[in-house]
Order: sequence, then C-alpha cells, then structure tokens
Amino acid sequence: MNRFNTALMFIICSIPSLYAQELSVPQAVHQRYTHELEQEHTSLINNLLRIFDVSNQEWQEELIQARRDSDQEDEACKARYTRMYDRINPELEARFHALLRAQGINGSDVIMINNGGFPEAGKGFVGCSKHSFDSMKLTVKEQDALLLHEIAHIIHEDVVVWNALYSLLNKTPWYRKAAAFPLMVKWHWFKERRADLTACLAGYSYAQALGEALRKIVPFSSTIQTSHPTFKSRARYIQAFCEHVVSDATTDGAVSVTKS
Ligand SMILES: [Zn+2]
Repeated sequence: MNRFNTALMFIICSIPSLYAQELSVPQAVHQRYTHELEQEHTSLINNLLRIFDVSNQEWQEELIQARRDSDQEDEACKARYTRMYDRINPELEARFHALLRAQGINGSDVIMINNGGFPEAGKGFVGCSKHSFDSMKLTVKEQDALLLHEIAHIIHEDVVVWNALYSLLNKTPWYRKAAAFPLMVKWHWFKERRADLTACLAGYSYAQALGEALRKIVPFSSTIQTSHPTFKSRARYIQAFCEHVVSDATTDGAVSVTKS
C-alpha cells in the first residue's frame, strides 16, 4: 500500500469514529447562529411594523393583547384534546420535561398533551402523540429532536408574535396588506427554520436526529408542507449546520469531512 492509499484509508477509517463520538456545538458556531437568527427576526419584524405604520410602543401593547388571546386559544385547544384523546404517555412526558429543563424553561409553566398526531406548540403547551411517533418509527433521539423544535417555538413565543402580526394585518388598510402579506409568510417560514436550528443548537446529535426524523416524516406529511419550509430546504440547512460544527471541531477548522 503506497503512502497515498495509507492516508486515504486513515481518513476513511476516522470518519465513522468522528461520528461515533458526541460532538459538542462549538461556542463560536452557537454564537454565530444565535446572533444571525436574532438579527433576521428583528429585521423582519421592523419591516412589518414599518408597513403597518405602528410604533414600538404600539407593538408591545399588541403583544400583551396577543398573549391574552393565545392563553385563551391554548385553553380551548387543551380542552378539546383532553376530550378527544387519552392522557399523554408518562415516559414521553417525563422526557419532555427533562428537555424543557435543559432548555432553561420552568416545567410547571408548560405542559404536554396528547393531540393524536404530529407535534405542535401552543403558547404554553406542546401537543404530540406516542402512537404517531411509533407509527413513523422514530427513535427516542429523533422524537426528542422534534420536541426541541416545538420547545423552541415556546421559547420564542412564536404563537404570540404570529397572533400579534395577524391582528395588525387585520387592522391595516387594504393597500398596505399586499406589501405585508409576503413578509408575514417569510416570517412564518423563518420561525420554522429558527425552531429547527434552535433544536440543532441543543447538540450535534440532535441536529443529526432532526435531519433523520424529517426524512422519516416526509411520507406521512402532505398537509404540513405549506406552513413550513420544504423538507428539501430543511434538510439543506440542517446539513449545513452539521458541517459547520464538524468543520469547527476539526483541528484546522477548515476541513469539512462531511462533504463528498
Ligand atoms: Zn414548527
């Protein structure tokens, strides 16, 4: 075996071992993603407020009202699910509360409820179903990655912000609606990307599991495509995130071992 082949064998053999060990998300990657997502959110909201012609003070008041409305929506939703479905699986619920604690949320403020289907987040609850998870053959890690996506929606108060934006859209004159609507859709997709990437930031293994979970969900999910970025684009930015982590974790910080 010549020197080139020896080097090639070394690289090939070291790739699985790199995957086998738990990579942590480097601080620099964490900071970069958090900062860029915050900036994107602020920019989108500011553009919308400009179109709606409302001040920051008025926006804050709108958010307060939206929190009240979202609490009421939560209660109605929870009551409906309680009537329709059994109690959530205790093991799943315990895992959910462990994830909440790890993400710095006081568990008693947020509950998990059986919604009989795909994971979803309200203002203060996450709905999901063990039966649904099992039917899609999701591993525990993949389920946790999806739950971290929903927890991210709660951390960022996405339901509240959406309700506040929607209320402003309803109040705005027709000639401003046309300009606002595409940005509203853009924000909606942004919040899904932010939830995915927030789940990825919880750990490299969660990022990998999220990518795998989305691949498994595709055949079951013709209805959720319109409210989310496409599965293709979700797979792309999750892959890019994984590459950033691996690249940053390698010695020279420049080699991407995931690139084929
Ligand atoms: Zn989501």
